[in-house]
Amino acid sequence: MNSDPILEGEPLDIVLAEPRGFCAGVERAIEIVERALAKYGAPVYVRHEIVHNRHVVQDLRAKGAIFVGELDEVPPGAVTIFSAHGVARAVEDEAGQRSLHVIDATCPLVTRVHLGGQRYVRQGREVVLIGHAGHPEVVGTIGQIPGRVHLVETAEDVARLEVTDPDQLAFVTQTTLAVDDTREVIAALQARFPTIVGPGIRDICYATQNRQEAVRQLAAETDLVLVVGSPNSSNSNRLRELAQEMGRTAFLIDDADGLDPAWLDGRRSVGITAGASAPEHLVQGVIAALGRLRPAQVRRLTGAVEDMHFRLPAELADPEPVARTA
Ligand code: SF4
Repeated sequence: MNSDPILEGEPLDIVLAEPRGFCAGVERAIEIVERALAKYGAPVYVRHEIVHNRHVVQDLRAKGAIFVGELDEVPPGAVTIFSAHGVARAVEDEAGQRSLHVIDATCPLVTRVHLGGQRYVRQGREVVLIGHAGHPEVVGTIGQIPGRVHLVETAEDVARLEVTDPDQLAFVTQTTLAVDDTREVIAALQARFPTIVGPGIRDICYATQNRQEAVRQLAAETDLVLVVGSPNSSNSNRLRELAQEMGRTAFLIDDADGLDPAWLDGRRSVGITAGASAPEHLVQGVIAALGRLRPAQVRRLTGAVEDMHFRLPAELADPEPVARTA
């Protein structure tokens, strides 16, 4: 119950970020699992969460996907899908040794980072990877670069770096970092190693960039920001942090059940966005739940228009007509 007499009965202004939610890499990864299930039948095995969203994983599990931590949990010869975050070469090799039927759902933008790192190593450089320790994309990227890789998360990490040859360095970045964080670390690298080469902020993917710009606009226009996404989603966490850095209270919620009615007390407007792995129906669920708490009106911000689409792996690009589950 709203305790602020001024706001009693006042409609809540719900503002939706544009763009938000699914990116092309996540759509492709989910479609790969669904098409693999349709073509080869259940079960198909998926190494790690296909994308970092609890609802997506539950939905695919219900359709017959089995999620495993490591490949030794997969029966020999079984259809095995690598997640959108990518895998190390050692994992690819292990799959080959175990004769698994691999379908790679690594996002093409992550693959681009892998290829960039490999190119730098061929040039005789050590690679600095800007990213979060332990994140599957970072683990995969380090394992795809056949040379020395230094992981840094902050400008302070750059100050502590010990490299073999300061004039033979390159950097690459995790795709889902905050643009500003990356810029700061890159600046620290360039200040300490003036000859370092790298792709600037181009490795930050279009979806990350667009969602971050949209959440800034959202935070500027609303009293409270809700980010729909799972707690293990790197890009969703960045969206929440960016809103907080703009001085807004912001929460990351998996779905409408994560909503606390007390958050609305004293607030006239609520901004909603969603991480790249969060389905739109969860956003709609949050809007509906807010509408049950307060009379509400919904409006959309205008933002970047996205028409990115990534091709599917050839074996799934043209599936035979098979009855698909909803
Ligand atoms: S957020 Fe970007 S890099 Fe990650 S899956 Fe989506 S498109 Fe690919």
